[in-house]
Amino acid sequence: MSGIFRVAKYPARRSETDSGCNLPSVKQRELGRSGETIAVIGQGTWELEVADEKEATRALLAGLELGMTHVDTAEMYGDGRVEERLGRVLAGRRKEVFLASKVLPHNASRAGTRRACQQSLKRLRTDHLDLYLLHWPGRHPLGETLEAFAELQREGAIRHYGVSNFDEQELAEAVRLAGPGRIACNQVLYHLGERAVEHAVLPTCERLGITLVAYSPFGSGRFPSPGSKGGRALAEIATRHGATPRQIALAYLVGNERVVTIPKSSREEHVRENAAAQDLELSADDVARIEQAFPLGSKPRSLPTL
Ligand code: NAP
Repeated sequence: MSGIFRVAKYPARRSETDSGCNLPSVKQRELGRSGETIAVIGQGTWELEVADEKEATRALLAGLELGMTHVDTAEMYGDGRVEERLGRVLAGRRKEVFLASKVLPHNASRAGTRRACQQSLKRLRTDHLDLYLLHWPGRHPLGETLEAFAELQREGAIRHYGVSNFDEQELAEAVRLAGPGRIACNQVLYHLGERAVEHAVLPTCERLGITLVAYSPFGSGRFPSPGSKGGRALAEIATRHGATPRQIALAYLVGNERVVTIPKSSREEHVRENAAAQDLELSADDVARIEQAFPLGSKPRSLPTL
């Protein structure tokens, strides 16, 4: 796939969040076909339970101030301890956050999904989630999970719903079952070292009007070392932009207007660095250089996950 599609083809929207709070103007993008926008660069929370609580809290709140208001969590993270932590951190600031969580596949029967959602809401100390996802495809019929999502949405417990780790066929099936415009997003593994979603998942998202949420945008701690071929290419582009290699990596991922991302950091200086990536515009030459250093490769038999 050519990288040209990602260069300023779709100018990013800048808008105020809908929270009514005095947040800075941040780069936002439409979530699915909802008409609502979310932060292009949000915040992940996997393994947050092992981070120093004070430092991680400072980092998360700094991210909110910078407009990284899409906060992604899951009942799985730390067996509920990450949601509990978030509940403490976000007390009094809930309106500033676009809060996403996920149900585990083995809980995703119709009744189990409803139960899991209520437990997540309790741990998160809120009466609603902004986005609720099926963490990955499992043994319960997908139609049951989606019916539970629709019920929860009607009742006001969740505002939007979607899926995670779905390949293009699974995604098309989810849309068939839920109806057009209902699946807001597919959260999938996407970083420079793993571009497999560009083969079919991203084009399917574009065709069906579904947001692709790129998880592990830095390869989950395995970011290219400065001495590697990819590391050298990123450093060269970063120098041209007065930016850092990680900012270049994020800018590449969100160069497509259907993509948003959720880097995780429990350190304030890292969060600040990640937030600033939203202001970068890569040239066609930059994109070509990145794609040469991090080749797409052939389409794998199954969708890579973490
Ligand atoms: P990631 O965001 O790719 O990388 C996180 C690692 O990068 C941490 O070690 C972090 O360390 C470091 N880091 C972040 N910003 C940095 C910076 N500016 N400079 C240097 N180091 C930096 O990995 P991830 O946590 O796997 O993925 C992000 C989020 O995606 C998760 O937290 C989770 O919410 C979601 N996720 C979803 C799934 C799924 O199946 N749906 C799977 C995996 C992840 P510090 O904390 O020290 O900054």
